[in-house]
Amino acid sequence: MALITMKFGGTSVGSPEAIGSMTEIVRDALARGDQVIAVVSAMSGVTDQLIHSAQDAASGNKWGYLSIGQKLRDRHDEVINLLTKPGRNRDAVKTEVASLIAQHGELCQAVNVLGEVTPRIVDSIYAYGERLSARVIAAVLRDQGVDARAYDAGQFLITDEQYGSANPLWYETEAHVHERLLPQIANGVTPIITGFIGQTRDGHMTTLGRGGSDYSGAIFAAATAADELIIWTDVDGVMTTDPRLDSRARVLPYVSYQEVGELAFYGAKVLHPKTVQPIIGKNTVLRVRNTFNPSFEGTLIGDERRQVDTVVKAVTTVKDVSLLTVSGRGMIGVPGIAGRTFLAAARAGCNILMISQSSSEQSFCFVVVADCAHRVKHEIESELGTEMAHQDVDAVDVLDQVAIVTVVGAGMRGTPGIAGRVFSLMGDNRINVIAIAQGSSECSISFVIDQADLKHAVVTLHDLALETAPLASGD
Ligand code: ADP
Ligand code: ASP
Ligand code: MG
Repeated sequence: MALITMKFGGTSVGSPEAIGSMTEIVRDALARGDQVIAVVSAMSGVTDQLIHSAQDAASGNKWGYLSIGQKLRDRHDEVINLLTKPGRNRDAVKTEVASLIAQHGELCQAVNVLGEVTPRIVDSIYAYGERLSARVIAAVLRDQGVDARAYDAGQFLITDEQYGSANPLWYETEAHVHERLLPQIANGVTPIITGFIGQTRDGHMTTLGRGGSDYSGAIFAAATAADELIIWTDVDGVMTTDPRLDSRARVLPYVSYQEVGELAFYGAKVLHPKTVQPIIGKNTVLRVRNTFNPSFEGTLIGDERRQVDTVVKAVTTVKDVSLLTVSGRGMIGVPGIAGRTFLAAARAGCNILMISQSSSEQSFCFVVVADCAHRVKHEIESELGTEMAHQDVDAVDVLDQVAIVTVVGAGMRGTPGIAGRVFSLMGDNRINVIAIAQGSSECSISFVIDQADLKHAVVTLHDLALETAPLASGD
């Protein structure tokens, strides 16, 4: 008997058919004698709608948020009507859905009256998607004879107060999981837990960031010492590139933690970048699998850096970013300019995705998401005001409409000439490389190009990954 944490993403719970498939996956595991904890996302598109509802509320558009509430209610009711039988279970979950929708409306109404929305209220509004889906899925499973119960993750998952990208407090979370969750499982309950959300020590709802349900799945897998964590999604596994960018993308049978960390950080949406953190060093087997192709074994992710034939395993991209360059001849040998620049970026609330410095020290550049770029520029200009007045620093330039391309593969370590091959391919295809960075792990190379060249660059580099990609069984 194994304890398996299964995380189901938005598409995997996004329609009555999808919920039909995912509940079958859960039942099959239970029938084999395994114990299951399901961590579920909101139905696909629901979090986006909730974001709009908060914006509508803050801007006084009452009709907007009320109509979103009504659509959400209809969509969840449709699943209930199709997948549960008339009776007490159905009535009870319909009442729960109605009450959550009413609460959402009241919260939006409060925002409407105040005319502004705080990060704390935003998180409470965004949380309704997972709170609704978990209840509906638990009701469907109960209808199928499973002793399933829905839980808001905050009952167990305690976080700090960083609303919008909260971090788990491990000690409290593990304690709650041991005291409150494991005994339920031992009693034969199959918990259906909301992904994406947690709760502060004093009971306020938090969210872990977009795509954060993968991270929730890993947190619960780690805290329960699960034998396996399966990320059930809408593709066959981690692939050589985003299949939406190049339909030739193939499933990778095995990826190391380090490789998947780079892939996720540099844009492979299939896994949230923090997913592997909680389970590193544990004995939890991590797989990414397809809810709509459940007989396929998917991608195994582990801590071994297996050497494979492919040197370049995968190509990923991050779009809608800007490149900032800080330059000035007087910067040579002046310590601390880079450090102060990065602190200024942090003060502006922006993450730095990539850094590159030329050896002359006359300039360095870094990449942030486009929305942040001008805020960061102003913050740096005020931080380096004295240096700019003395003309030690000449300018902080922003280049918009660029993208990061990353090639990932542990086999690149110690294989000479890979970087050369990558960049000559770009040159041969007349794609201008604006800045380059290679991580010290040598497991990835990232570079910045004009966003207009993105598709061409990905397809060209993807050829390199496909040349020797090992086949996943069943591929
Ligand atoms: P979920 O809702 O299940 O969390 P996501 O939409 O967040 O699913 O992630 C799955 C999507 O990630 C896929 O549909 C695919 O388009 C995209 N994706 C991007 N890069 C990759 C990659 N390298 N391998 C697999 N999928 C990828
Ligand atoms: N529902 C959340 C989102 O859309 C979390 C997730 O699906 O992982 O970002
Ligand atoms: Mg996701």
